[in-house]
Amino acid sequence: MHYLSTRGDATPRKFCDILLEGLAPDGGLYLPVAYPVLSGDDLARLRKVYAEQGYAALAFEILSLYIDDIPAADLKALCEKTYTPAVFGTREITPLKKLQDASTGAAPTEMYLQALSNGPTLAFKDMAMQLLGNLFEYELQRRGEQLNILGATSGDTGSAAEYAMRGKQGIRVFMLSPHGRMSAFQQAQMFSLQDANIHNIAIEGVFDDCQDIVKAVSNDLAFKRQYKIGTVNSINWARLLAQVVYYFAGYFQASETIAKERWEGFSGVSFTVPSGNFGNICAGHVAREMGLPIERLIVATNENDVLDEFFRTGIYRVRGAADTHETSSPSMDISKASNFERFIFNLLGDDAELTRTLFAEMLPQQGFFDLSQHPRFKEARARFGFYSGKSTHADRLATIREVHEKYGITIDPHTADGVKVARPYIQPGVPMIVLETALPIKFAATIREALGREPERPLQFDGIEDLPRRVQVMPADTAAVKQLIVETCA
Ligand SMILES: *Cc1c(COP(=O)(O)O)cnc(C)c1O
Repeated sequence: MHYLSTRGDATPRKFCDILLEGLAPDGGLYLPVAYPVLSGDDLARLRKVYAEQGYAALAFEILSLYIDDIPAADLKALCEKTYTPAVFGTREITPLKKLQDASTGAAPTEMYLQALSNGPTLAFKDMAMQLLGNLFEYELQRRGEQLNILGATSGDTGSAAEYAMRGKQGIRVFMLSPHGRMSAFQQAQMFSLQDANIHNIAIEGVFDDCQDIVKAVSNDLAFKRQYKIGTVNSINWARLLAQVVYYFAGYFQASETIAKERWEGFSGVSFTVPSGNFGNICAGHVAREMGLPIERLIVATNENDVLDEFFRTGIYRVRGAADTHETSSPSMDISKASNFERFIFNLLGDDAELTRTLFAEMLPQQGFFDLSQHPRFKEARARFGFYSGKSTHADRLATIREVHEKYGITIDPHTADGVKVARPYIQPGVPMIVLETALPIKFAATIREALGREPERPLQFDGIEDLPRRVQVMPADTAAVKQLIVETCA
């Protein structure tokens, strides 16, 4: 399997060539030259693998279709080391919980939550990041190289990266976060890590200041090369690929129930995905292209509705800082969706020239592009199954309350956006799977506002706020951050 750039650079590259890289040299995102397509027999075999051997074996089967530059035995060992019940809490790794079972007409209508947030940091990013940590360590050792990961976080990404990279050979993490602005639980999660290779840097500023410093350091190419600066952001193809696996696991679990209940005319499942940078749902798109029977892929946004606007109107209009709202589902607060280019490339029939024009010329020049009159825009729904919707703070609170009252389950604000947006798109006979992207304890303030009480706290996090902290507070100054990296690497 080879990889190419969405903007046309077709230098043949293998999986491990792009594993440690960010963007392609032409500024595009990497995609496989083609998605492997599975037959009905292949799907039946994968279903059996998942049922009999578990999630790690399923992950190995799917990853093998895209990775041919890691020996199979090694890749299998990496999957087995990553997806264990000890790390993710259950044998299924991403178990389904049934939310709704109301009959409408001939076929029952069901809604499920697929739990993706039982990993070490209680958000779905662990699903990919835990694998990435093991892949990075493996590949760096193979090359005899080191990597200094520099990142900026407002919460979930930073902690997922740190828990994935802690104690790993050849890797250091420098994670910038806005001083005093993450939730108390998120701060405690990150700052209580005592591993020598993890460096928490609280910047006196806002998230954008942190991101600007990361950009400034990365733009200093000499420094970047000398200090082997890398990233783990969501455009990394390996992260996206790891996420493809749980769409299969969700489908197999939901259709298992159906086989037992003998539904007539079962055609597939739908997924609703609380979305920000379009990484999670892009993995669903890849799974669907591979032949997984997915009816609909529903993009759920919060008040930052860049993506909902595109799927409704065909206009993709990125927002400025002033138009990017701070919401109570903060991990979806985006001004542009960094993985979106992958889908647009496929939507346009893999037209790299047009993709390049849209993302490298029109967006920077005018701040939007308009595909409403393009003949392929209607394919987003007709051919690719995409729908969308938006949820607000009031919707979030109402949904958290309703799900708690009816089913006795507390959901987090991001998952609530998913449940809210999913409802009008449920079809009779098609199970609707809403991806649960975080646990409520991470966002306690909103849970208190909705339910008037504290969310439940998994046992292992008892008293985490009282643990000793390892964090340095620094001014929003690129030179100071560089100096810290230089001293640490000395
Ligand atoms: C990152 C994140 C999202 C958004 O996922 P994308 O892949 O960026 O679309 C949604 N919910 C939670 C809890 C997250 O951490």
